Amino acid sequence: MASWRHLRTQIGAAPWLPLVLLAVACSEDQPSAPTRLSATLLAGEASIVIRGTVVTPDGFIKHGYVGIVNGRVVSVSDKQPDMPDAIKVNTEGIILPGFVDLHNHVPWNVLPRWRPGRTFTSQPQWADDPEFQRFSAPFDHLVASSFCDMNAWGELRALVGGTTSVMATRSFPCIHGLVRNLDFNSGFYGTTELDREHIFNVAGFRLPPPSDVTGRAAFVQAARFFIANPFYEALAMHVAEGTDASAEEQFTFLLSRSLLNPKGILIHGISLGASDFQAMVATGTALVWSPRSNLELYGATANIAAALDAGVEIALAPDWALTGSSNMLDELHTAAQWNRERLGGRLTDRQLVDMVTSVPARVAQVDDEIGAIRPGLRGDLVVLSGEPDDPYGAVIRATPAQVQLVLIAGVPLYGDRALTERFWDPADLEEITLLGTPKTLATPAAGVAVAAIAARLQAALTEEGASLAPLTESR
Ligand SMILES: [Zn+2]
Repeated sequence: MASWRHLRTQIGAAPWLPLVLLAVACSEDQPSAPTRLSATLLAGEASIVIRGTVVTPDGFIKHGYVGIVNGRVVSVSDKQPDMPDAIKVNTEGIILPGFVDLHNHVPWNVLPRWRPGRTFTSQPQWADDPEFQRFSAPFDHLVASSFCDMNAWGELRALVGGTTSVMATRSFPCIHGLVRNLDFNSGFYGTTELDREHIFNVAGFRLPPPSDVTGRAAFVQAARFFIANPFYEALAMHVAEGTDASAEEQFTFLLSRSLLNPKGILIHGISLGASDFQAMVATGTALVWSPRSNLELYGATANIAAALDAGVEIALAPDWALTGSSNMLDELHTAAQWNRERLGGRLTDRQLVDMVTSVPARVAQVDDEIGAIRPGLRGDLVVLSGEPDDPYGAVIRATPAQVQLVLIAGVPLYGDRALTERFWDPADLEEITLLGTPKTLATPAAGVAVAAIAARLQAALTEEGASLAPLTESR
């Protein structure tokens, strides 16, 4: 089995590789000793039955039941399963797979929204802009001392919007997963070692400019390694992030070097046209669409109509909260609006929901673990309040205030007190106010205290002349 250390030896220390393997001392918050029930929940040994309108791969079951044992779904039915020892909870909500976010930059989401007030034509244009450099300097200063808190805050922002798996972060030992980190420590491999993931996506995996001949050669060498090595099942790359000729050149370069392939997850693709999307389909390459961030930075986004015409698999994700959405529900809201106003409504509500659940799981090759509610898969679920006769429409319209419950690996981690108290001792629940609505986080499962993280981050950011981003934003 290949390991990251092995990989480093194989491909050498290419300068663009963000080999951030720093050992940092993390100030773990000390939750109180777990109660007996919480110990059972934490060990993943609890049996749980949740009732509500269940979104399944075949449609939805109104007033259905999801049975979970040992962290995995064991039954999906319209009749109550025979599980006499289970904790049974009637949510009266919509139960769907937890969202799978394939495009984020998790620790960055401590910074508040960046509003450039103008648009750019390429990624380096804004990333190298003095204004953005000034805005983002606190991030660079904080990473060494506060990474664990930063990542936890980013994960919390994802969690409150219904995300149960996210990508991408950095390889720091303190990542233990409020939500699953798909590029490091997903929890799928029975270990907390960080180098077991079969997806390669580090935020820095970008194609260098044509002038950087050495960097490009190293990129091609690395990409060929990932493609050839059967250990790796998915390779995510930021490509064609912009509207100018340099964005399109990135795509044609990859195509010319035969680097588009069934492992490929192409993030952005703003400049791509019909023939490019046909080339993606021919090579089995998928697209991650991030409309809100694209529109903020470039005034344009991927040509989804052409991608749909070609038959490209399209996942939806926020990019980051600085210029994109605060969470997946907010990004769904943006995509639904774009669909209505610019795509003539050709995407159904169900297709939009698939773009944040089953499609990203499939293109990241983790659909044998997550992305759907069916027996055998992990108990990663989100429950939202909404109209049971129109569950897909309800999901599209939902705000984070409507998130009633989130379970990851069958552990009820977050949600409304009325539901979380069915599982946890009230003393185990930390209250969070979100959009004026009280929510709770199960401290023993989260392993962190939100108030303590917020206080530490706020203090650190204040010293940098910045402020901490809120957990979520009103629309
Ligand atoms: Zn990105």
